Amino acid sequence: MTAHYDYLVIGGGSGGLATAQRAAEYGARVAVIESQRLGGTCVNVGCVPKKLMWTAGSLAHAMEDAAGYGFQVPHPTHDFGALKRARDAYVLKLNGIYESNLSKKDIDWIKGHARFVNSHTVMVADQQITASHIVIATGGHPAVPAIPGAHWGITSDGFFDLTHLPRRVAVVGSGYIAVELAGVLASLGSHVTLLVRKDRVLRYFDTMLSAGLAREMAASGIELVTGAVPLAIERAGDLHTLLVEDGRRFTELDSVLWAIGRYPMTEGLSLLSAGIEVSAQGFIHTDRFQNTTIPNVYAVGDVTGREALTPVAIAAGRRLADRLFGHQPDRALDYSLIPTVVFSHPPIGTIGLTEAEARSSFGDTVKVYVASFVPMYHALTERKARVEMKLVCQGADEVIVGLHMVGHAADEMLQGFAVAVKMGARKRDFDDTLAIHPTIAEEFVTMR
Ligand SMILES: Cc1cc2nc3c(=O)[nH]c(=O)nc-3n(C[C@H](O)[C@H](O)[C@H](O)COP(=O)(O)OP(=O)(O)OC[C@H]3O[C@@H](n4cnc5c(N)ncnc54)[C@H](O)[C@@H]3O)c2cc1C
Repeated sequence: MTAHYDYLVIGGGSGGLATAQRAAEYGARVAVIESQRLGGTCVNVGCVPKKLMWTAGSLAHAMEDAAGYGFQVPHPTHDFGALKRARDAYVLKLNGIYESNLSKKDIDWIKGHARFVNSHTVMVADQQITASHIVIATGGHPAVPAIPGAHWGITSDGFFDLTHLPRRVAVVGSGYIAVELAGVLASLGSHVTLLVRKDRVLRYFDTMLSAGLAREMAASGIELVTGAVPLAIERAGDLHTLLVEDGRRFTELDSVLWAIGRYPMTEGLSLLSAGIEVSAQGFIHTDRFQNTTIPNVYAVGDVTGREALTPVAIAAGRRLADRLFGHQPDRALDYSLIPTVVFSHPPIGTIGLTEAEARSSFGDTVKVYVASFVPMYHALTERKARVEMKLVCQGADEVIVGLHMVGHAADEMLQGFAVAVKMGARKRDFDDTLAIHPTIAEEFVTMR
């Protein structure tokens, strides 16, 4: 027998669950097809376990800093296995909450791998399901290079399976996942070598952020190797050697971690059967309303190749449901000015244009304000991690088109400033806002 739904959601991750629940709130009959645990990348192998690991790393730094404030902290020991068990238990609890949220909203969870038969029909094993509207929210998966021995390495998924802290690890990649995982490993005690293909980490971020983070990573013991293109991994016993194209060898590694990008998860979906077009990299083409090239089939989240962030997938999914079932025909996500935090050590907060992007778009009408200082937190500590801040302003009114920071508390600071930037704040709006003293954030409203 064929089951029929108003809305069929393929993928029970951030975007899929959000769109399913919003549609159900409007009274639609909804099913989610998910082959793994509910919650997708973010909950199981992304934001959530990563943030817990980041917090562990931050606590390690705080214990180091505590001595400056008079605490006698004996050399702390760390039980990596205990952290993993506690983290896994928390994630399992979230999986359960997601499942019960679906049943509370009468959304069916069809367990299995979806495959298109045509634009209105999907198969899961031998079950046929039809729907008036189908949304693809299948996310992505980590890339592994096609080089000899690459399979000896792990990806971010494998990072979350580690039961012991690797003693020596090479992290390969320059994006946010690479710097985040390198930071966690180093702060918990691994010797970390971070290898990047070009000349810097976070190449698409403002150069002040890349340089500031590279400096702090070096201060915390991470060895940054530039111009390194991996050639092969060799294994002897339990140890690995990573060879790079220019002949350098990185030896005695317990672990090599690939963080070189992510591919869309479209394998086995049979997109061609439904006539759905994808880009050269396999991302599903969508317009601003999340429509694919086939009517009544939509896509949201990482599989679209748009900004790969959980709140982006959620927002796109909710807006799509508002449009399809909530009588809001113009509802669509505005993809501009997306605030982003990198949970590096120290963290980065960024929104809007980099200085280089602003200058190339607006030339001489751009004015930049910067601050660089050691925050009062470090007045008494041996570690002296600097903070770098930048406002990128444009035009006679000095509209803030970019706001960037690397340093202590950037992660919690950005959200509020993002509201102001999204509302079109000008430099003088910042100037007119009284400072909160003594804080790091006050520098954003006192720059000259
Ligand atoms: C290490 C790491 C850290 C991250 N940290 C952050 C962060 O701090 N903040 C942030 O905003 N974002 C972060 N992200 C990104 C975030 O996780 C993703 O942007 C988000 O999960 C995308 O949601 P999605 O719904 O598009 O896909 P996903 O959450 O990946 O969900 C897709 C789901 O579809 C399922 N699926 C795939 N194919 C099929 C099929 N054919 N049939 C049935 N089911 C299928 C998968 O099993 C998966 O559960 C991180 C990602 C990683 C890898």
